[in-house]
Amino acid sequence: MRCPFCGNVDTQVKDSRPAEDHVAIRRRRFCPACGGRFTTYERVQLRDLVVIKTSGKREDFDRDKLERSIRIAMQKRPVEPERIDQMISGIVRRLESMGETDISSKVIGEIVMETLARIDTVGYVRFASVYKNFQEADDFDKFVSELRPPGAGDAE
Ligand SMILES: [Zn+2]
Repeated sequence: MRCPFCGNVDTQVKDSRPAEDHVAIRRRRFCPACGGRFTTYERVQLRDLVVIKTSGKREDFDRDKLERSIRIAMQKRPVEPERIDQMISGIVRRLESMGETDISSKVIGEIVMETLARIDTVGYVRFASVYKNFQEADDFDKFVSELRPPGAGDAE
């Protein structure tokens, strides 16, 4: 698993345990290159969701991308990491239970914003400000790269 901080691919699993009432395995990982610590989850994927972009292009739904964008928006916010995990799982469950395999990127963005707005205003504003450009760019990778951690350029 590649280190999200420095890009090193040789990271170590320090701890594995059941999570979310045994629907997931939570692994704590450590990057020997930069000392970074992060968490990964292994879980059953019941449905393969497809994201329909505004351009009409189809792309497999990627939970990791969604998670990355939310974690960046929530960086250094006084919200428990567990709460963020629950929030992400909640969003994915909502998407999975919509009864459709195809979901528009617009709907996903709106659900994320709605959820963030209830949990943390600053995280919501960060996400929403980039989301506007995202709709124009129609490119989730660009979207994630534009969501910068606080301190990288702008004073808080
Ligand atoms: Zn690293």
